[in-house]
Amino acid sequence: MSFPPAPVDSIDWSSISSTQVNDDCGHVECHYSVLTETWSEPVFVQEPYLKVHGLSSALNYGQQVYEGLRGIRIADNKIILFRPEKHAERLIHSASYVSMPAPPIELFLKAVNMAVAKNAIYVPPADAPAQLYIRPLLFGSGGQLMLIPSSQYTFCVFVQPGTTSHDLNPIPTLIMEDFDRAAPEGTGSAKLGGNYAPAMKSMAIARAKGFPLTLHLDSKTRTVVEEFSSCAFLGVKKDGEQYTITATESKNTLKSITSDSCLEIAKTLGWKVEQRSVPYTELPEFSEILAVGTAASILPVRSITRESTSDCFSYVTDSGEPGPAFITLSKILREVQQGKTSDFPEWRKEVTEIP
Ligand SMILES: *Cc1c(COP(=O)(O)O)cnc(C)c1O
Repeated sequence: MSFPPAPVDSIDWSSISSTQVNDDCGHVECHYSVLTETWSEPVFVQEPYLKVHGLSSALNYGQQVYEGLRGIRIADNKIILFRPEKHAERLIHSASYVSMPAPPIELFLKAVNMAVAKNAIYVPPADAPAQLYIRPLLFGSGGQLMLIPSSQYTFCVFVQPGTTSHDLNPIPTLIMEDFDRAAPEGTGSAKLGGNYAPAMKSMAIARAKGFPLTLHLDSKTRTVVEEFSSCAFLGVKKDGEQYTITATESKNTLKSITSDSCLEIAKTLGWKVEQRSVPYTELPEFSEILAVGTAASILPVRSITRESTSDCFSYVTDSGEPGPAFITLSKILREVQQGKTSDFPEWRKEVTEIP
C-alpha cells in the first residue's frame, strides 16, 4: 500500500539533523501487568513524553533494554521495515538479561508498524540521504523500592528521521583500554542501556584525541577483538580475486543484524564468510575493516590505534580511500533496503496503514 509522499517544502531532508530530537513525532505505548500476565493493545500518543513512576525499576536499577531498526520509503511511496523480526527476537534476548517479560514478536511488529504508519510523513523520500530510525524501548515502570523485578512494564516505540552518513572518509578508531564495556560473564550481548552510559566518558576522551569510534577487546584477556562501542566489526581479506569476510564472534558482543545482512550478501558474491573469534594479533592481516550497524549502515575504518603498545594498523588505499569491499557491500545493502534488487525480499516488511 502507498502512503502520501514525504513533504518536500516543510522539511529539508538533506540536512535534517540526526542529533537534534524532533518532538513532533508521536510514539506508541503498550503496558504489561505481571498480575494479569497480559500486554495492553498498542496506543498511539502524539507527544514524546511518558508518565513514569519516580521509583520505577528502570530509573532506579536500570531494568531497561532497547532496539534500533530502520523504516525506509521505497518506490511508489511504499514504506518498509528492515528485518524487524530479527530486532523483535533480539529484544526478547536482551530482556531476559534483566528479568523482564518482552512483547511477543507479533506485538512488537504491530507496535512498530503503528509508530511508522502514524509518523509516515517523517519517513524521508526514497531518494533522500536519510532514513527513519525506529527506537523500541522496554522498561520496568512500576514503583517499588525492593531490588526485585518490577510488577509493571512499558513497551514504547519512538521514531526519528535523520540523515544517513554519506561521508566516505574512513574513520580512525582507538582501542578502549581504560574501561571494559562487557564483563566476561556479563551483559555484553544485550542492548541494555547500562552497557552504554559507562562507556560515554572514555568515548568522549577518544573523540577529543581525534578518534570518533572506539573498539573493545575482550575484558578478561584483552587478546580478542570484540566490537566497536556502537557498531559490529567486520574484517576483510583479499587473496587475488577471492575475498574473505570475517565477523567477530563472542558471547559478549551484540548479534548485529547489519553484520548478518553483510555476510548473507557476501555469500551471494561468492566471498568466503566466517564468524569466529578474532585474535588481536590478526588485526594487521586484514586489508579492510568495516564498522556496521543500523544507525551507521557501513562505515570504512581508516586505522586501529592501541596506545599501550604504540600499534597503529591502516586499512585504506595509498590515497586514503576506502577499499573495494566497502564500496561493493554499501551499494548492495542500499539496493536491498530500497527494494532495487529481487534478492532477499523477506528482509523488507511492508508497513500497512492503521485503520
Ligand atoms: C546496536 C549495536 C550494534 C548494531 O546492531 P545492528 O543490529 O546491526 O543495528 C552493534 N554493536 C553494539 C554495541 C550495538 O549497540
